[in-house]
Amino acid sequence: MTRCSIVPPHVLAALARSDQPGPALVAARTLAIDASLRHERPPVGSRTTAVPPDRSGEAGPRRTIHDARGGEDLPGDVVRAEGDPPTGDPAADEAHDGLGLTWQLWAQEYGRDSLDGAGMPLIATVHYAEQYDNAFWNGEQMVFGDGDGETFGRFTASLDVIGHELAHGVTEHTAGLLYRGQSGALNEHVSDVFGVLVKQRHLDQSADEADWLIGAELLLPGVQGRALRSMAAPGTAYDDPRLGRDPQPAHMDDFVRTSDDNGGVHINSGIPNKAFHLAATAIGGPAWQAPGLIWRDVLLGDISADCDFATFAALTVAAAGARYGEGSTQAAAVVDAWQQVGVTSAGEGGAPAPSQKRTAPPEPADEDAALRLTRTGGVGGMTRTRELRLGELPPPDARAFRSLLEGPQLPRLADEGTPRPDAFCYGVSCERPALDVQVAESVLPRATRRLFERTLRREG
Ligand SMILES: [Zn+2]
Repeated sequence: MTRCSIVPPHVLAALARSDQPGPALVAARTLAIDASLRHERPPVGSRTTAVPPDRSGEAGPRRTIHDARGGEDLPGDVVRAEGDPPTGDPAADEAHDGLGLTWQLWAQEYGRDSLDGAGMPLIATVHYAEQYDNAFWNGEQMVFGDGDGETFGRFTASLDVIGHELAHGVTEHTAGLLYRGQSGALNEHVSDVFGVLVKQRHLDQSADEADWLIGAELLLPGVQGRALRSMAAPGTAYDDPRLGRDPQPAHMDDFVRTSDDNGGVHINSGIPNKAFHLAATAIGGPAWQAPGLIWRDVLLGDISADCDFATFAALTVAAAGARYGEGSTQAAAVVDAWQQVGVTSAGEGGAPAPSQKRTAPPEPADEDAALRLTRTGGVGGMTRTRELRLGELPPPDARAFRSLLEGPQLPRLADEGTPRPDAFCYGVSCERPALDVQVAESVLPRATRRLFERTLRREG
């Protein structure tokens, strides 16, 4: 299953360790739910109940909006099927409209009928869980939380976020970009590009008029920031005591090497994002036209799943030349954009720093053992961290951690699982016994995920 959530792990992590108990608790709970979801596929058959009647031959999206009513069972009760009038619930109606506008971009501009190119039904659930600080695509449907009400509002409010998550579905059905390192950052980049293009097309904004922000509508008043990300100025979207500072680079010189966030997929996406912004503003006019078509040609064309930045840049240059002619304004703008962000001359980089794992037989963990727990990844790429000593934990949790630190489970889990778009990674490190691992949410047992959740939200 592919899960794509919109709030980056580094944001949720910062929030969880902030000194404001309300948002911190909610963020920790969101992290925990995200983790538990990795093991919960929608029951077989649940999708068939959600699929609208056969409308083959009709052109248009096939949307069904469900309401989880604060619970965690998917997909929940149907509240609006295709053709139904508005419900009056803003979340349900925003989801319905956002799915429709995303479908329209792909169908009307890029000739693709839904995510799979074959009219795949679009299913969404709103009011998922309590004060849930995220939105994600789980490979089968969209899921939206209501936000905590202090930092984040309801997650249906950002059209570009809906477009971002659905673009993960397109990528999954086409290029299949591996969600790690540079190919993972490209997977994120492609979702930001088509997410922002859904919004720009809906608002009928040219490249010069657009704000190039991702998730601007999610942040509530009082948060020191404009959005989750800025494609025009990566690294400047927010700088907030609770959320931390936007970590995105805009140039290969500042490429971030990290094992967090699947190798910084939500961080280094700032570099290709800036390249797209530069190309689009240089070409001028609506960005969903020439720039979007060039990127569409690459995503739907002959591209390998482990594509790196330099290869992707070359593919966009080739696509621009094929569509508009070599030496055309469009092709020249694309060439120049990648040079400006240092990709075409940079060449290498991007593999995440390897986890050290365990190098020697573990020593017993005593109560002075210092533990560092992180959660990274998520749609905003934000980090949550908790540092403590085992002795500070309630005895059952200390015992559970002791067993994890001394046993083979975490190093084994670290080698398992395919990273999923916008899903979280948990990092556990300790000096004595020596351990430094990153474990994908998708392989983490539920009890362990709950242990991590409790620990991340503990008052420091
Ligand atoms: Zn994403």
